Amino acid sequence: ANPIRIGVVGYGNLGRGVEAAVALNPDLQITGIYTRRDPAQLKPAHAQTPVYRLDDLDAHHGQVDVLILCGGSKDDLPVQTPALAAKFNVIDSFDTHARIPEHFAAVDAAAQGGKTTALISAGWDPGMFSINRIMGEALLPQGATYTFWGKGLSQGHSDAIRRVPGVAQGVQYTIPVQAAVDAVRSGSCPTLSTREKHERHCYVVLAEGAEAEVVRHTIVTMPHYFDEYDTTVNFISAEEFAREHSTMPHGGFVIRSGRTSAGTNQVVEYRLQLDSNPEFTASVLVAYARAVHRMAQMGLHGAKTVFDVAPGWISAKSPAQLRQEAL
Ligand code: NAP
Repeated sequence: ANPIRIGVVGYGNLGRGVEAAVALNPDLQITGIYTRRDPAQLKPAHAQTPVYRLDDLDAHHGQVDVLILCGGSKDDLPVQTPALAAKFNVIDSFDTHARIPEHFAAVDAAAQGGKTTALISAGWDPGMFSINRIMGEALLPQGATYTFWGKGLSQGHSDAIRRVPGVAQGVQYTIPVQAAVDAVRSGSCPTLSTREKHERHCYVVLAEGAEAEVVRHTIVTMPHYFDEYDTTVNFISAEEFAREHSTMPHGGFVIRSGRTSAGTNQVVEYRLQLDSNPEFTASVLVAYARAVHRMAQMGLHGAKTVFDVAPGWISAKSPAQLRQEAL
């Protein structure tokens, strides 16, 4: 069979991750990277991958099976996903949880109109974690679901620290509180406050002349971002920052703790430990792009989420092979 033709829209961390992930899947092929910047300025990892202007996409209709949209959730995807779903099968990783219903509605209208398949909010959270939350709830209706994040670099919180006067460079890691994780794993179904579940650890390089205590106080008291958490601020040198804090690790766990009869606890856990958040997110997008292609062929048009995708559809293997090897 011919490889599934993938177009990559936007070439940041996620776009680079998609390039790496497609290289590991022989049934998929990148036919082009599409960018709003000058294509000549982009250097794809595989030099032979063509880079086009986003505006060139219209002319490539019929030459791409699925577009993987790698723009940001804040400003890019709310515009790009509905616009492109009108003509192409698409998948995105939209992760602003509170706005998923309105994003779904906008994308659904476009995809129904264009008779395309548009999968939104794939990745790990939303994405794989979401699947594990609904599986836990459906299998163990009496119980509680817990999501812990980390150890992970939070882009939004890192941006917030970098805006504090006196901060030259900064990153923030979210870290699950071990005692809370242990309590959940024991099956005791504890009620946990925000502060009890996660800690926030910041690493900051001070600007010249800045006072550490003033910077620390501004960070730990910052409303919404840090005031509800136990936050520690570590001041380090620019050299240590460059050496120790230039990757994007993340992960976490979804735990469902339930009871099937009096005194009978059942605990289910799904865990991710990621050296690179964007490379893993991209790996999920690439597997689900395969499902989008199949769903489009089946005539399953409109907006979809990971909840609508059968597990076999994300695999390169045939249903018969999966029954034999994995069931
Ligand atoms: P990013 O690196 O900031 O890239 C976003 C867009 O910005 C790119 O598509 C690119 O578009 C543009 N861009 C990238 N580098 C640029 C540069 N040097 N100068 C100017 N423009 C540049 O963001 P990302 O890390 O790939 O993340 C994208 C989104 O993924 C995030 O917003 C997040 O919502 C989502 N995400 C979801 C999950 C999940 O589990 N669902 C997990 C992680 C991330 P052009 O090429 O068109 O300029």
